[in-house]
Amino acid sequence: MKGMSASLTLADAIAKYEPVIGLEVHVQLATRTKIFCGCPTSFGAEPNSNVCPVCLGLPGALPVLNRQAVDLAIEAALALNCAVNPRSIFARKNYFYPDLPKGYQISQYDQPLAEHGYIDIGGKRIGITRVHMEDDAGKSIHDGFRDSDRYSYIDLNRSGTPLIEIVSEPDMRSSDEAHAYLTELKQVLQYVGVSTCDMEKGHLRCDANVSVRLRGAEKLGTKAEVKNLNSFRFLKLALDHEIERQVELIEGGGRVIQETRLFNSDTGETVGMRSKEHAHDYRYFPEPDLAPLRVSEAWLSQVRARMPELPAARRRRFIESYGLREYDAEVLTSTREVSDYFEKVASVSGDPRSAANWVMGDLAALLKEAGKEIVESPVSAENLGALVAMIAQGKLSGKLAKEIFRKMFSTGEAAQTIMDREGLATISDEGALAKIIDEVIAANPKQVEQYRGGKATVLGFLVGQVMKASRGQADPAAVNRMLKEKL
Ligand SMILES: [Zn+2]
Repeated sequence: MKGMSASLTLADAIAKYEPVIGLEVHVQLATRTKIFCGCPTSFGAEPNSNVCPVCLGLPGALPVLNRQAVDLAIEAALALNCAVNPRSIFARKNYFYPDLPKGYQISQYDQPLAEHGYIDIGGKRIGITRVHMEDDAGKSIHDGFRDSDRYSYIDLNRSGTPLIEIVSEPDMRSSDEAHAYLTELKQVLQYVGVSTCDMEKGHLRCDANVSVRLRGAEKLGTKAEVKNLNSFRFLKLALDHEIERQVELIEGGGRVIQETRLFNSDTGETVGMRSKEHAHDYRYFPEPDLAPLRVSEAWLSQVRARMPELPAARRRRFIESYGLREYDAEVLTSTREVSDYFEKVASVSGDPRSAANWVMGDLAALLKEAGKEIVESPVSAENLGALVAMIAQGKLSGKLAKEIFRKMFSTGEAAQTIMDREGLATISDEGALAKIIDEVIAANPKQVEQYRGGKATVLGFLVGQVMKASRGQADPAAVNRMLKEKL
């Protein structure tokens, strides 16, 4: 490595520096129609079919703000612990790009919708500077490999799709923290129903501002903006690469320049695109066709009233009122659907801890095998709850319950229906059990002798024989007790 003493490895060099990371996340709001016109936002439509004079940027067309988009943006802001400004201003951000027919983006600049929020990740608080609303540009599609055969296409279906941009404070100190922040952010927004956050469809896009400074230094280093971090894996790879690149550059006597870099997922590297533009390059000015956005206290409290319980609060409640372990509570609040399903099973069964084990264990395994989401589960939460209740009441052995559960999953039927049809039930009737136990004792004289001679472990074998003879239907606790008595 140029300019670096041979004894100093790259890892040593990186350890001398502290990365400083801030994220800018664009999220597509889950509205049916675009932000300033009535065109649908549906994904995958014929190119340039969901367009009108407004989102095509035709001269004279006037934007009308979509109230549902504002509702969702407010919900996002509240979920991210932001203060919503009673008055915010739309501004034109001027730049040229072929997929931006208006020649400007309608965004918010010095008076955004909301400010001063935060997200907690593993005991650390990451500040959120602002949440503002804006419209999306269209899409350029590049095709062809040879110069003579290279085309670019423009699809304006996405033009005018409502977005919020969530800008964090530069509070993250590693790619892992950035990963945790984005994970939590995505989870909260999905939970509230603000966005699907489907990264493959571009509903959540992430750019990162990255700089490094010597540990202990106060002054921030020069930052580079890394764009195109469109998966969690890419985010981590790109940040680690960018941190390494900057450290290597500085250690080699060079200096970082403020620029925009693009992450190339094929090479795992970031590549300089252009020197970073500054806010003044955009010539922001207030959008003359839109009145200031006023959010009254009444509007705010309306939105607040219909907000669901947020994942962090629900996690705490699961631990406190159901006695779940922290890890389990985390898994069971990973999505709103999982949380709702679990709570239903817990309440129907009256046994939250077993409910947690079934949802995270047997159900999760079968869902994974079938490639299904929990909302598509053939076993309803009510039916699983009833099954768990039967185990808790000693009406079913765990082993038999698992067998019945597999059948519930393949047929969608209730446990009781399957048990009635197949004559399955746990035998705890002492008369019936005694008969089976007597048979097993008679058939295994050698083991009986060993047990009586003091070899206590043989009991397990005998219990197993009884369970087998009863086709798994015997109540294991009763078998244990009765076997001991008889022997
Ligand atoms: Zn339109």
